[in-house]
Amino acid sequence: LCSLFLFHPVSYFPNFAIGKNKFNPTMSLLVIGTVAFDAIETPFGKTDKIIGGAATYASMSASFFKKNINLVSVVGEDFPQEAISMMQQRGINTDGLQIKQGEKTFFWAGKYHEDMNSRDTLDTQLNVLSTFDPVIPDHYQDCEFLMLGNLMPSIQMSVLQRLKKRPKLVVMDTMNFWMEVALDDLKKMISMVDVLTINDAEARQLTGEYSLVKAARQVLAMGPKYLIIKKGEHGALLFHENNVFFAPALPLEDVFDPTGAGDTFAGGFIGYLSSVGDVSFEAMKRGVIYGSAMASFCVEKFGLERVVGLTEREVEDRVQQFVDLVQFDITLV
Ligand code: AMP
Repeated sequence: LCSLFLFHPVSYFPNFAIGKNKFNPTMSLLVIGTVAFDAIETPFGKTDKIIGGAATYASMSASFFKKNINLVSVVGEDFPQEAISMMQQRGINTDGLQIKQGEKTFFWAGKYHEDMNSRDTLDTQLNVLSTFDPVIPDHYQDCEFLMLGNLMPSIQMSVLQRLKKRPKLVVMDTMNFWMEVALDDLKKMISMVDVLTINDAEARQLTGEYSLVKAARQVLAMGPKYLIIKKGEHGALLFHENNVFFAPALPLEDVFDPTGAGDTFAGGFIGYLSSVGDVSFEAMKRGVIYGSAMASFCVEKFGLERVVGLTEREVEDRVQQFVDLVQFDITLV
């Protein structure tokens, strides 16, 4: 159980301190989503149950930009304390993580196709999630940035409703599973957020449009001011009104496991924005680059392994690689 995770004893995790002046530590960030066990199969190998979950990836990724991240989620009594300690060591506050005695943690199993861009869900066991009633601790109430990670849309909604003050920025991620089992709730939820992040297949499924530009127009008409469409190894698109920004994915020699890349992207995106306290389109463009950089690490190893072992220096170098990748000089006469 959790063998991949246990290769990394807690003491191994470097304890980073984000001390850069450019980051603003005062803006609070709340992350909700699944904290899970995953079983993953890719052309490179197969894992037994390892630590996963949308909120785990998103909060771990955001922790490279921001301290004092508040987590709201639920696990069963089978979830290892070491994994909770790992999050705490990265500055993630787990007071809002419920541990249900006598119950089992959410479990997801997936298998990637040869191209690694598409996958099949083999199993989804909601377990503790089926009765999850999120509790927002009082000291989480002052939330300026909210990441509604992948979760049942009705639960995402209850978190938003339980905050006394609407956050400055609400970012939501979801997946095809919820389009299939809870479409009405999902659409209602989408209408209430500022930024929606989905992948290209999900954008097509949600709108019935093959063209991502047409799909984006439809999604923006549903309510969000910004839409990010993630295209795996083909980068990500940020739409806002009639503007579109494109961030490439870093061409990597080896992609071992794309699981969590979307959540890691979202965590990097909102982690960066909350650290600078800026929600302008220009800041979001930079957020998309930071998110893409974090996602590029995630896919290099199985599960959380690569993100857990990262250093801030590696993050900075990777962002520089993105800058170099797209920088060119053209003088138009
Ligand atoms: P991603 O690869 O970014 O789509 O995220 C994969 C993570 O999402 C895995 O760690 C799973 O535990 C989690 N996950 C899978 N299915 C669901 C679901 N239906 N709702 C919430 N989280 C899920």
